Amino acid sequence: MAIKYVYLFSEGDASMRNLLGGKGANLAEMTGLGMPVPRGFTITTEACTKYYEDGEIINDDIRAETLEYIAKLEGLTGKKFGDANNPLLVSVRSGSRASMPGMMDTILNLGLNDTVVESFAEKTGNPRFAYDSYRRFIQMYSDVVMEVGKEYFNTLIDIMKEKRGITLDTDLTAADLKELAEQFKSEYKAKIGSDFPSDPVDQLFGAIKAVFRSWDNERAIFYRRMNDIPSNWGTAVNVQEMVFGNMGDTSGTGVAFSRNPSTGEKGLYGEFLMNAQGEDVVAGVRTPETIDHLQEQNPAAYAEFVSIVKTLEDHYRDMQDMEFTIEEGKLFMLQTRSGKRTAAAALKIACDLVDEGMIDQKKAVSMIDPKQLDAVLHPQFDPEALKNAAPIGKGLAASPGAACGNVVFTAEDAVIWARDKGCDVILVRLETSPEDIEGMHYSQGILTARGGMTSHAAVVARGMGTCCVSGLGEIKFGAEGKSFELGGNTYREGDFISLDGTTGYVYGEAIKTVPASISGYFERFMNWADEYRTMKVRTNADTPADAAQALKFGAEGIGLCRTEHMFFEADRIAAIREMIVSKTVEQRKTALAKLLPIQRGDFEGIFEVMGSLPVTIRLLDPPLHEFLPTDEGDINALAAEMNMPVSELKAIISSLHEFNPMMGHRGCRLDVTYPEIGEMQTQAIIEAAINVKKRHPEFDLVPEIMVPLIGELKEFQFVKNIITETADRLIAASGIDLKYMVGTMIEIPRAAILADEIAKDAEFFSFGTNDLTQMTFGFSRDDAGNFLDAYYEKKIYENDPFARLDQEGVGKLISTAVKLGQQTRPDIKLGICGEHGGDPSSIEFCFKAGLAYVSCSPFRVPIARLAAAQAALKNS
Ligand code: PEP
Ligand code: MG
Repeated sequence: MAIKYVYLFSEGDASMRNLLGGKGANLAEMTGLGMPVPRGFTITTEACTKYYEDGEIINDDIRAETLEYIAKLEGLTGKKFGDANNPLLVSVRSGSRASMPGMMDTILNLGLNDTVVESFAEKTGNPRFAYDSYRRFIQMYSDVVMEVGKEYFNTLIDIMKEKRGITLDTDLTAADLKELAEQFKSEYKAKIGSDFPSDPVDQLFGAIKAVFRSWDNERAIFYRRMNDIPSNWGTAVNVQEMVFGNMGDTSGTGVAFSRNPSTGEKGLYGEFLMNAQGEDVVAGVRTPETIDHLQEQNPAAYAEFVSIVKTLEDHYRDMQDMEFTIEEGKLFMLQTRSGKRTAAAALKIACDLVDEGMIDQKKAVSMIDPKQLDAVLHPQFDPEALKNAAPIGKGLAASPGAACGNVVFTAEDAVIWARDKGCDVILVRLETSPEDIEGMHYSQGILTARGGMTSHAAVVARGMGTCCVSGLGEIKFGAEGKSFELGGNTYREGDFISLDGTTGYVYGEAIKTVPASISGYFERFMNWADEYRTMKVRTNADTPADAAQALKFGAEGIGLCRTEHMFFEADRIAAIREMIVSKTVEQRKTALAKLLPIQRGDFEGIFEVMGSLPVTIRLLDPPLHEFLPTDEGDINALAAEMNMPVSELKAIISSLHEFNPMMGHRGCRLDVTYPEIGEMQTQAIIEAAINVKKRHPEFDLVPEIMVPLIGELKEFQFVKNIITETADRLIAASGIDLKYMVGTMIEIPRAAILADEIAKDAEFFSFGTNDLTQMTFGFSRDDAGNFLDAYYEKKIYENDPFARLDQEGVGKLISTAVKLGQQTRPDIKLGICGEHGGDPSSIEFCFKAGLAYVSCSPFRVPIARLAAAQAALKNS
């Protein structure tokens, strides 16, 4: 049977969302509910997919079926497409499964041409209205379908108003509008090189094509990537008989929400404009009135609308966002959908709907997008202030939230401007390194020209909950290092810029932010989520402060403590550098002896905070280049400390240079070459645990010691031996009954493939998906940002694999390792600690793969809790 590509509204319903798109399915549902919906039909999302499969062509079948449905619509309305006496005019609107800003929205009044408009003027007895509709159509079609842009059309309107000495569009006469329509057509011809299409069928297919095309424009692709919407969903097209809000003073148009979308407060919230068409309300040409005023102007239409709103909310059991038009006093519904809302409103609405008996807790838990919780945990831009701002560039959305402040270029200046001068600062760097940590800590936002989603800047900023945009390659630094160029402007130290770490946009001006605000609804909602969650949520935390923050957000343990991060602070970095550049075991042992008390102290702090909750501590895994001194002053100081000539130190530093530091001398390789490092770290962990256990015998403290970058069982056994010998000796000497576990990260493909071997000695696996992704793709995690955009554009990859787990490839390695690991050790403890542990779609994958926990940065813990609950609900 031939595929059916077109459905009348009366043939569909809300359950057909995948096929008809959200708008089409809801128009069909409202039609079925007997609501006043102008008649029309929907061309399916499958037609869109087919359009792309056929090489961006509307094939004969779809074309014929569309024309057949135009004929049906003519039959239903008694009007005829292109008929001079009784013309059918339609709107053409896009509508995908998930509402997607950035796609083509609406073409109104399609079907008008020079002849039709004349008779339309005559028939309606309202030439002003007819020519107003015509000029709007030419304007919209030129802008949206032919992408001529709308600015010049608006200029022509302004010139006309000036010539006529008026300020309001509504004061333009029929003759003015007719003249404007002519001017618009000339503009079209000048830009496009051919006449404005007069045949309504050509107009229609032009518009349908534009909708299909808009599915794949840059904005839509970006939105899909941000929201995990697959590119093969496609968009539907809705063709609907026009009703007119611009027929005079008894006509109008408006939008309304059934609850306040900013606060969640119950009650009708919206605005309308009389004698206007849809775009006037959003375009801000005239100031709309609030919806309650409709009651005075048309009590019957208002009452009918209020009753429809109630029916729709009860029917959909969610806050609705609706569009309506009143044509000569009569109400028509043009759209209803679940209203977009702020995170704060989403939480209140979810709780209120449960209290009102409209939904149960499960439904409440599944209705909030986990990523939206970012907005209650981080500062955001004031939406009003943001409306007037234009971005100057876009990098990777590396750590969410909004920040605004004075530009500084070094970590030292960040400290001076922030701590000493009391300013908010944005630290702008080529890339960050461990030395920048203090400056990063003092910054409101971090912007880097280099580095991907798992680069130093991104990982550290997320850990701190600081807004970060990384990998904005267009930034050109001035030679003096105190200015940068972006979007055609130069920014110097002290200039204001703003960052949106949720979208990656950078603005060359100060934009007001509003602070994070956690309400009582948040707590209540998160408790419901926890009821349905089966996977544990741990955190990646390197300090007692981070651990405490994560506990407040509901973390149930530490899944990754990166011990090298403990040395970022200025007074500690010297000791780790000393260890790295040591030439002899003695030198190294001296340096390690300085590190031991520091590490032991930090571990004690962490164990104290975490109590009986599990804590995984990973042995040192620094890509060495992140720690080596580059600055002349630092090199001199280190040489002095080590009693070594500067030239000798420089020679050592250059001998440590690696071509691929990420695949170089890091992770367990350090313990293989320098076993004393593993010994010192084990000693620090075990002594810290013994000390805490002495103070708190009630703590069920079982440190989990984790070895990074394992690729081979013998390698693991070698390092495990160092650990167990040291640990067992210390425990025996202490007389304290302390248990501990030794496990490994699975972050090298070889380890995943040989997981059955490795599980012979590893008591737990934690998937390090940052490195596993890097090494599976062969993409450097620090450099992939430079070329991934080309992969999205060419549709080779849809998402950044460092942000969203590549389920087919990297995921297959994970599933393989889970299966093999469990074969050898059925009770093996399984978790993930790569950045994907905080990404909702990756969390669902982890749930399905059978992991016991996910671990993520503290500010992502609530997101992970909700995503894990949704994964359990969806897959149970
Ligand atoms: C990983 O590789 O996924 C991981 C957690 O370790 P790191 O990011 O420190 O390399
Ligand atoms: Mg790693």
